[in-house]
Amino acid sequence: MRGSRGRETRAKGAASKKDLSEEGDLSTTQDLKGSVSVTATRRSRRTTPANPLVKEVGSGLTMNDTIQTESSVSLSSRFMKHEKKKLSHNEENDDDKDEAVNEASVSSDQSKKDSGQFKRRNKISIEYENELKKDKWEPPNWLQMLSNIREMRKSADAPVDNMGCDKCMDDEGTPEILRYQTLLSLMLSSQTKDEVTHAAMQRLRKHGCTIENILMTDDKVLEDLIHPVGFKKTKVQYIKRTSIILRDKYMGDIPDTVEKLCELPGVGPKMAHLCMNCAWGVVTGIGVDTHVHRISNRIGWVPRPTKNPEETRKALEDWLPSDLWSEVNHLLVGFGQQICRPVGPHCSTCLNVAICPYANSPTSKPRKTSPTKSPRKK
Ligand code: SF4
Repeated sequence: MRGSRGRETRAKGAASKKDLSEEGDLSTTQDLKGSVSVTATRRSRRTTPANPLVKEVGSGLTMNDTIQTESSVSLSSRFMKHEKKKLSHNEENDDDKDEAVNEASVSSDQSKKDSGQFKRRNKISIEYENELKKDKWEPPNWLQMLSNIREMRKSADAPVDNMGCDKCMDDEGTPEILRYQTLLSLMLSSQTKDEVTHAAMQRLRKHGCTIENILMTDDKVLEDLIHPVGFKKTKVQYIKRTSIILRDKYMGDIPDTVEKLCELPGVGPKMAHLCMNCAWGVVTGIGVDTHVHRISNRIGWVPRPTKNPEETRKALEDWLPSDLWSEVNHLLVGFGQQICRPVGPHCSTCLNVAICPYANSPTSKPRKTSPTKSPRKK
């Protein structure tokens, strides 16, 4: 029995080996992988001589290698499937999270709405938009008035055109000296006619208008030099104190900002803005003197009457385009010296008479003809 069983077993084993040699690759790979790789293995055996690519695969890999490779592919495929599932699961989770966050956000928004927070935001936004929509105030006919004033000033023969503060410096000199002289002429010009200021500056220049020389000069001598400038005693004190500060704090030059200029004795905003323009070539604001202040009120270039030049400056800067700031001082000062004079404006010869609020106001009673000088008593 034993011998016959052993023979049977050996016979079966031989049969299995035969099967394996003919179809073993088929059955084995079918169990482990699938039909695609099996077909490839079969083809490789049948078509090895004709197909070099298959030959390479067939000759390079043993059966075990093929199974192993296919197993690896199979595992890799399973791994990919697993990863896909994981990814899909994660995405689902993320979606859930997003939904949860959105729900929380909606819930939070709802609670904010309930608590009135959104109401306040909406209110601010609407107010801001309304502010932007508001039209900026500007005087009626201002462009026509400006054009008319330019036309009336085209001869440029007013005192400011030839004797203004920008005409008082030495012809030659260092930039520091020229800036110092510009500042001094502005300090002298306060409540003083351009002709008087210009003459005083000529005498000072002849004397030697530098910081060192001014500081070495006796106060009384300086007063005599600038006479008949108004408030000469006070102005000499301002000039002396300013000169000490410039020497000690600014190394003989003048400050280059409106704020620092305003810190100097006797220097206010009007002087500072004009100085920035004339001495440094920088437009920082409108220089509003008594002429600009008066004319701006007469022709309605301020929304409501202003009490002083500083108020007028702020009102003008609110609406006047900044590229006109430098021009408007010179233009209006000359216009005020020649036509729109403080007393007795020459409305009859003014091109603005038809559109000027002052000329057409029943209460202002502007003089319609050029003023005539009353004969002096002998
Ligand atoms: S009309 Fe008279 S008040 Fe008006 S701008 Fe001319 S001069 Fe001045």
